[in-house]
Parts: sequence; structure tokens; C-alpha cells
Amino acid sequence: MSTIAENIAKVRERIREAAQASQRDSATIGLLAVSKTKPAAAIREAHAAGLRDFGENYLQEALGKQLELADLDLTWHFIGPIQSNKTKPIAEHFAWVHSVDRLKIAERLAAQRPAGLPPLNICLQVNVSGEASKSGCTPDELPALAQAVTQLPQLRLRGLMTIPEPTDDPAEQHAAFARLRELRDRLGPGLDSLSMGMSHDLEAAIAEGATWVRIGTALFGARDYGQP
Ligand SMILES: *Cc1c(COP(=O)(O)O)cnc(C)c1O
Repeated sequence: MSTIAENIAKVRERIREAAQASQRDSATIGLLAVSKTKPAAAIREAHAAGLRDFGENYLQEALGKQLELADLDLTWHFIGPIQSNKTKPIAEHFAWVHSVDRLKIAERLAAQRPAGLPPLNICLQVNVSGEASKSGCTPDELPALAQAVTQLPQLRLRGLMTIPEPTDDPAEQHAAFARLRELRDRLGPGLDSLSMGMSHDLEAAIAEGATWVRIGTALFGARDYGQP
């Protein structure tokens, strides 16, 4: 078994090579470590190896780890589906939310973001694969949602996020990520973030302009949802 520090080195090397292949500066690509289901000790290890940005999907689990790790300088990103009755702790305890896909959620986050904190960084999640079951707004809904979110106080619209239908076909991976980039570009200047690419497809995402790759398995190993 490899250690988390070794895994981080390998992922950084993949990011560096992918950036080089598309003439990008790898410093413009953030490594967001997805720590869902993993213990606080794993985050501590990743922090010791230099990571600062961590993504969580489950609110209660995330809040517990935040308490345990309050001594570290970490930036927390919420990346999971959001129920409207969970927006307040998300607005209070995270710096970024990548998974906003409807106006009601954005309005609640804006109203509940404490005045003493900087604006909450927002990525709008878009469904670029057209599957009915997936979360994310449709490309058609995006312009109006983006326009409305930019009007809200205490939020800073940074860009778009997507989780495409999983595929091993590089051409399909590229097509989905290129679609997100085009949608971002069409919204106009000022959106600096594209949150796309996971353990199996970060190369395609970086080639298409990712500024955050969200990496879980390649850093922390497979997730076990079975045992408590
Ligand atoms: C779990 C998760 C990831 C990480 O996926 P891996 O394949 O383990 O790298 C990335 N983004 C989101 C939204 C996730 O839920």
C-alpha cells in the first residue's frame, strides 16, 4: 500500500504532465483533495504533505472533521448535493461550494453567509451529460441562474462544475469537459474557475481548462461505504 504522501506526489506528477501537454502552467490548476468517508487522520497526513484544499460531500461528516482539524490551516469545499435545510451550516463552515444547481439554494446561502466572513465562492454545477438522474442544472437553465447568482450578496460566482457520466473513452471525456468550458466562456469574462476532473479523467479535464481537479481515490485509496 502506498502512503498518502506518495499518492500526492504521483497525482502532482500527473497534473504537471497534463499541464505541460497542453502548454498550461500547472500552478493554475488546484488540487482539491476529496476526503469524503476518510478519517481526519488522512487529512492531517495530506496536510503534512502540503495539501490545503479539501472537498467533502456529507455535511455532518465534514463538520466533525473540521472540529477535529481546527488547528490546521485548511480551506474547505462543499462538493455534494445540497438539501435546502442544510444550507446554513454550509454557508457558515465552508469557503467554496461547487454544487449549487438552483437559485433557491444560492439565495439561502447568500442570506445565511455570516457578514464577518468573506463572500462564499460559488461554482454552478451543470449536467453536461444529459442524464435525468444526475444533479446539476441543464445548459439551458445556466445563463439565467448565473445572472441571478451574480446579483446575490455575500456570494462570489467563480465558475462552473461538472461530474460527467463516467467513461473510459478519452474522446467522450474531452467532449464533456470542453462543453463546460464553452458554457463558462459564453457567460462572459470574470469567471475564473472550472471544477472538473476526478481520479480517472483529470488529464482530459486539464487539457480542457480545469482550474480545480477533485481527486479522491488516487490520493486516499478506494472508499468503503459499507462499514461504520
Ligand atoms: C467523490 C467525488 C470526487 C472524487 O472522485 P474520485 O474518483 O475518487 O477521484 C470528485 N468530485 C465529487 C463531486 C465527488 O463526489
